[in-house]
Amino acid sequence: MARAAVPGRLSWRVGRLAEARQETPTARTLVLDVPGWPGHLPGQHVDVRLTAEDGYSAQRSYSLAAPAEGGRVELTVQSVPEGEVSAYLTGVYSTGDPVELRGPVGGWFVWRPAGTQPVLLVAGGSGIVPLMAMIRSRRAAGSRVPFRLIYSVRTPGDVYYADELRRRARDDAGLDVTFVYTRAVPEGWPHPPRRIGVTVVNTNGWPPALTPDCYVCGPTGFVETVADILVALGHDPRRVRTERFGPTGG
Ligand SMILES: Cc1cc2nc3c(=O)[nH]c(=O)nc-3n(C[C@H](O)[C@H](O)[C@H](O)COP(=O)(O)OP(=O)(O)OC[C@H]3O[C@@H](n4cnc5c(N)ncnc54)[C@H](O)[C@@H]3O)c2cc1C
Repeated sequence: MARAAVPGRLSWRVGRLAEARQETPTARTLVLDVPGWPGHLPGQHVDVRLTAEDGYSAQRSYSLAAPAEGGRVELTVQSVPEGEVSAYLTGVYSTGDPVELRGPVGGWFVWRPAGTQPVLLVAGGSGIVPLMAMIRSRRAAGSRVPFRLIYSVRTPGDVYYADELRRRARDDAGLDVTFVYTRAVPEGWPHPPRRIGVTVVNTNGWPPALTPDCYVCGPTGFVETVADILVALGHDPRRVRTERFGPTGG
């Protein structure tokens, strides 16, 4: 018996590039128009599929960077050296071009705007993408839940959404942002380059007694280190949610 097509979020949809913004020399935000997009929660991702004229196709996961606005979906893609899909999306993909998307995917690494617990976000590099969706959704929903973001990058030029983060840290009441630079610091910065360790998390996170919801996202090694630190500091492992941006594909 023929199987019926799976309707809704598991089917592939065609999106087209409406706008693009360069976030850093190697990262690009893509604003896509996706007719029929069902909406999503901050933290979820999509699968993106590219198909060449000869039928060869490649598929990768990308986090949703902002709350849904009707059929508009935002992704931010970091160009990975020798990267098949990221090189195309950051370099070649142009306004009006199609791409296939499937999603939203993921039900654990999400923040619900009705949440009441304080939130700690810890990002490494491009791991800021789903956490930025949470920060943007908090504001859009008028939530007063206090958020703290610790954002680790190599150099000041690697910060995604730099102007917006500076503005939100000033204007979004209850949002604190801490930058950690691992290779080069801005002029006059009070610390030399350093990595996120116990001291940074202890000083800039929440005390475990407040039972915050913690979201950690970035490269696999980064995520494992930070999750271990949070648990060692006494945070409930069930409140530490992680997303690893390791290689994907198929
Ligand atoms: C749930 C999830 C969400 C993700 N969200 C984002 C996102 O919002 N933005 C984003 O830019 N990426 C994100 N990624 C990573 C993304 O899916 C791809 O892995 C990445 O774009 C590389 O794909 P590529 O085809 O360019 O590289 P490939 O051709 O697959 O790989 C090229 C080379 O780079 C290495 N490599 C592949 N992926 C990575 C990586 N992530 N880090 C370091 N080296 C890598 C490979 O081992 C290989 O050596 C996410 C991954 C997951 C699992």
